[in-house]
Amino acid sequence: MFNADTPAKCCSYCGGRDHDFEECPKRKADAEKEEAARVAKAARAEPGFTNEFHP
Ligand SMILES: [Zn+2]
Repeated sequence: MFNADTPAKCCSYCGGRDHDFEECPKRKADAEKEEAARVAKAARAEPGFTNEFHP
């Protein structure tokens, strides 16, 4: 049954119905995880990257 009082939210990230994509807690958690991994990788790769950059 369609309830007009309930906002039509459907998260395209995790499929949740209580929030939309922009508010997805799973997406935010994954984004933070990805950001942390990216920073860690960049910090780790920096010395090697400079060596690889100069032939
Ligand atoms: Zn979600």
